[in-house]
Amino acid sequence: MTGRVGRRKFLRAGIAGISLGVLGGCVEKEKAFEIAKKPVEGVPKTEPELFVPENVPPGQGALTRMHVELARAIKKPAEELRWKMVININRCIGCYACEVACISENVSPPGVTLRKVFVTEYGTFPNVKRTFMPSNCMQCNNPPCVEAAPMGGMRRRSDGIVMIYPKKFKNKEEVDAVIKACPYKNAVFYDDGLYFTSGIGKEEGVVSPPQPYEAANNYQYVSVNGRKELVGRPRKCDFCYHRLRNGMLPACVSTCIGGAMYFGDGNDPDSLVSELMRTNQVAEMNGPPGAEPPLNTEPNVVYIASEVPDVMAGLKSCMSCHKISLK
Ligand code: SF4
Ligand code: SF4
Repeated sequence: MTGRVGRRKFLRAGIAGISLGVLGGCVEKEKAFEIAKKPVEGVPKTEPELFVPENVPPGQGALTRMHVELARAIKKPAEELRWKMVININRCIGCYACEVACISENVSPPGVTLRKVFVTEYGTFPNVKRTFMPSNCMQCNNPPCVEAAPMGGMRRRSDGIVMIYPKKFKNKEEVDAVIKACPYKNAVFYDDGLYFTSGIGKEEGVVSPPQPYEAANNYQYVSVNGRKELVGRPRKCDFCYHRLRNGMLPACVSTCIGGAMYFGDGNDPDSLVSELMRTNQVAEMNGPPGAEPPLNTEPNVVYIASEVPDVMAGLKSCMSCHKISLK
């Protein structure tokens, strides 16, 4: 479970995500779709439309409903909001489409994966299974990273987002301090300025310039960032805040083809995320087990827990590094 996504994996993941609907006759794929099709309490069974006309009422599909709720939520003052991401592992089919969407949306270079799908294998040969655990910065209510950051480098917003301001970081040591303070692996990254095309043609004596898609500006962190401005700085998920304030769901949520990702205002009792948290047992991943004093990070990313073996296998693998609180 390394944090580096090389160019090859980026391409492979992209192809996997795009071609899942095209490849036929694959037994694993059929099983994956079976899992994805299982209904979840609280989620309408109709499949979502991607874009929502203004007046579509809630209940037309999970994505549609979340878009409508988001349009309502962003009219509220930030202090009345509590953004929540709810992940249903049982629906994740391991296509990595969310990881690729995140890389693309945030113009992330190699080694910077603000979102990662962890894979757990369990069982005994030949009855071996895999389960997938999508994960990103947990947007903790008690974030140890904030104290480790330089003055003004990070802040927990009243809506729950732990915002990072990369340009306030002066050197790698300051970034490393934050990486060390965060109890979750692969939440904060150092941008070392590489491009996916770096080194291509080296053996032939050709220098490959970065492709336009990897040298583009990105819009994270409440600012427009030229690609080079983020080199030597930290990067992390901010719940795609630039999209939220424009009425769009986080890129990973709207890209998930398994319907495993839900997002919305946890302070709105009528929102889908509130309904899911009310009608299912959810698991919070806190700091390491046995930490003294206990590190109750209180993440705003939660997982739907259930007795489904795939889900339990994924959660058990997390328990080796995290204290899991069931709610
Ligand atoms: S997951 Fe790590 S980086 Fe994100 S808010 Fe929590 S402590 Fe900070
Ligand atoms: S919310 Fe945005 S930045 Fe965070 S993991 Fe999803 S796509 Fe990446």
